[in-house]
Order: sequence, then C-alpha cells, then structure tokens
Amino acid sequence: MWCIGRDAMIRHLYQSKDSLIHLCESAEIDEGLRLVWTKCDIDVPENSSFMSTEEPTCPRCTAKEKAELDQVEKAMKHVFENSEIKEKVP
Ligand SMILES: [Zn+2]
Repeated sequence: MWCIGRDAMIRHLYQSKDSLIHLCESAEIDEGLRLVWTKCDIDVPENSSFMSTEEPTCPRCTAKEKAELDQVEKAMKHVFENSEIKEKVP
C-alpha cells in the first residue's frame, strides 16, 4: 500500500470557502449515511467532498497526515525489527 507514490494517491478532499484544500476523513454511521470531516476537524457539508489526486493545501491537515504517516512508518519498522518471521520462512 505504501509503495504507491504519493503523487498518484487519490485522496478524499474538501475545499473550504477560503480555498484551502483539506484532507477528509469519513465514517459510515448508518446505512447510506456517511459523516465526513477534515483532519483539522471542520465538518464537511453533505456532498461537498471529492476524490482527487490534488495536493491538500491546508497546513493543519498536511501536518497531521505527515505525523500519522511517520507513526505508521515507525510502527512498521518496529514490527520488522522485532520480527522473527523472516527466519522462520523456509
Ligand atoms: Zn484542514
């Protein structure tokens, strides 16, 4: 999943009135009912978000995404370094 270049990533985005492009998170809270909000905690009005490879421009969203990616990377590195799987595979 992480081998896909960041440039080619299709993201869930929202453009707010001040023209900033935010990164969205969403959750289906009921059948057919999906709640969308941005990483910087703005509520996204229904049907206002879109999927695109565009780069988000909101500094708070991008900082949060970077922190999350760093955490995943660290966690994966930790798992790998503490894993004996590679030695058990024949
Ligand atoms: Zn944002």
